[in-house]
Amino acid sequence: MLLNLARTLARSAANGPGERFVVWVQGCPLACPGCWNPDTWAFGRRELHSVQDLAAIILATPGLEGVTFTGGEPFAQARALAALAAPVRAAGLSVFVFTGYDLSELTLPAHRALLELADVVVAGRYRQAERTLDLPWRGSGNQRVHFLSNRYGPEQLAGLPEVEFHLSTDGSLAVTGFPTAALLGRTTAG
Ligand code: SF4
Repeated sequence: MLLNLARTLARSAANGPGERFVVWVQGCPLACPGCWNPDTWAFGRRELHSVQDLAAIILATPGLEGVTFTGGEPFAQARALAALAAPVRAAGLSVFVFTGYDLSELTLPAHRALLELADVVVAGRYRQAERTLDLPWRGSGNQRVHFLSNRYGPEQLAGLPEVEFHLSTDGSLAVTGFPTAALLGRTTAG
């Protein structure tokens, strides 16, 4: 089984609780105006990874708290992500999913399979008119954090790193997470 991905990051502390392996899927049908990752919208082939190989890489990465699926739209590849989440959960790691759908829209069997393996789901379209820099893990005020297992709870929402900067060996800079208004002010002020 294959996943079509935009990119991965082996370690991040800005995409859910603890240190997490982050998987950005390629393809999103929702086209929210103002989306920060429009390069992930197209459904054409980008990076194909076998679920089995990716699971092996994740499980060989030391010190991880869990994995985070984001995008792009993870539930557009729900069946393959559920197949990836199963060995991850079985190894004691947690599963965190960002989706543009509300939970009430996720009714297909593949959706349910992924939801059953998720510890936390942050759900809802990004709405530019409700943009916020003050809510952990969310880009707009309409989005909701759902704790679907007893592994985490609302106490996890306090004191998280909001943003990370990753400098690659090729010199490229990647930014991930949720910058605060204060940080954006400092950044734009130079
Ligand atoms: S659901 Fe997420 S990735 Fe898709 S368009 Fe909206 S903000 Fe962008």
